[in-house]
Amino acid sequence: MELRFWGVRGSVAVPGPSTLEYGGNTSCVELKGGGDVILFDGGTGLRAAGLDIAARRASRVHLFLTHFHWDHIQGIPFFAPLFDAANHVTIYSSAYSAPLRESLEGSMKTPYSPIRFDEFSSKVDFVDLGTGAVNLAGVSVQPFEVHHPQGACAYRVEGGGARFIYAPDREHGDARLDSLFLQHARGATALVISSQYTPEEYETHRGWGHSTWLESARVAREAGVQSLVLFHHDPSHSDDVLRRIEADARREFADTFLAKEGWAFEL
Ligand SMILES: [Zn+2]
Ligand SMILES: [Zn+2]
Repeated sequence: MELRFWGVRGSVAVPGPSTLEYGGNTSCVELKGGGDVILFDGGTGLRAAGLDIAARRASRVHLFLTHFHWDHIQGIPFFAPLFDAANHVTIYSSAYSAPLRESLEGSMKTPYSPIRFDEFSSKVDFVDLGTGAVNLAGVSVQPFEVHHPQGACAYRVEGGGARFIYAPDREHGDARLDSLFLQHARGATALVISSQYTPEEYETHRGWGHSTWLESARVAREAGVQSLVLFHHDPSHSDDVLRRIEADARREFADTFLAKEGWAFEL
């Protein structure tokens, strides 16, 4: 299986000359290797993913949302597969954030969008996973709660002999949820995790819902994961800053990578 990164940025899209290397689009990751299309989060990276999916003529799509902050849903109105009646798109969320259907329909109400959610031509299903897992042709996707303002989940995904954690928005420091996180992450093949801040920046961003590269490296070590993928980069971090973070993080955890838009990572 392979992870394809369509959007790696947190908070807001930041295209421009200082983000050319790592990319400016917000959260969207695809798991490739199964039969159907499986995507995690619908940030602005979802637009390019949709064009690729349409070009591949894939018609069955599963989109797992961690929560409903803009940087995780803003690509949905521009997702090409939703405009084709031949397609079937299922959107999932968990019990750890707001109600799925109402939240998405609300985000496209007048005057926020020229089209309503119920005007998409594809078949659209909404599945609130609650606290349970779903199995899609050999891939199991299990949500679990993470510490984030207004609630969010991370996903533990297993299939093809690999297991990865997708946790774009998660702050450390809540004892119960930190322990739950470790439990799910233990021995994972890859940990894709919120690493928005440097330890210095975190001092003035406590409670904003994100962690640091240093805390993520500590979790990776404690959980004994194979690879650490730093994700949800701060919009203020240029390519130069991100290159420095990658070098610093590798001194703490050798198998560290910074997620990059367009990058494919073999699990
Ligand atoms: Zn976010
Ligand atoms: Zn968030």
